[in-house]
Amino acid sequence: MPFTSRELAPLVEGVCAEVIAHEKELTELDRAIGDADHGLNMERGCKAVRERLPGWAELAPGALLSEAGKTLVMTVGGASGPLFGTLFMRLGQGLGDAAAITREGLVLALGEALVAVRARGRAQAGQKTLLDVLEPVYARLGEQPAVSLAALAATAQAAARATIDLRAERGRASFLGERSRGHMDPGAYSSALIICAVCEHLGKGDAALRSGTMDIKQEEDRK
Ligand code: ADP
Ligand code: MG
Repeated sequence: MPFTSRELAPLVEGVCAEVIAHEKELTELDRAIGDADHGLNMERGCKAVRERLPGWAELAPGALLSEAGKTLVMTVGGASGPLFGTLFMRLGQGLGDAAAITREGLVLALGEALVAVRARGRAQAGQKTLLDVLEPVYARLGEQPAVSLAALAATAQAAARATIDLRAERGRASFLGERSRGHMDPGAYSSALIICAVCEHLGKGDAALRSGTMDIKQEEDRK
């Protein structure tokens, strides 16, 4: 279904609110296998995007996402800033100046964006990074018949959970080697929060699509 900037702006707002609401959880995850700043980094970036959003009202959806990506690069910092920034900048570029986003256009643009994210992080799925959520979500998005929002949200959550068992091979967590196992990857969880917030928004506020219900401590203990 075509999706214009007028519809995209509140969605972006909702995604930012969801990430900001999980700042503490994201920071705690990064405390276990990183340097305890992922939540703060993402909060800073999402607050900046939220502040600038009203100024982007006249932009096409692609340009709006590119601006959001640039803002993330400039404000998030850390490893995740350039990675999430690249994701949204390339997603925006791929969508071009079309007045509305279509499902087919989104799948194509996301595919291109992921090529850029892999290159930027010199990373691929299986290395305990945000790609471990983004790749399976992208794969499901391309399925025919079209995957449901609930299935997409569930895929993102399960993929974030699956990073608990992985050994980190990129970023700070990789310095821990085998000791990185047993913890969820912070960037994978923020990616799942973003995907689930998009699904929740498109599902018109269906709370069942949120990932905020995921109890990380319990998930990690169970493993
Ligand atoms: P930093 O590690 O610089 O403190 P953040 O804490 O904000 O940055 O982000 C850490 C997250 O970034 C990790 O959980 C992981 O998902 C992601 N990440 C780190 N390095 C890479 C990489 N080379 N490729 C893909 N993702 C990465
Ligand atoms: Mg960090």
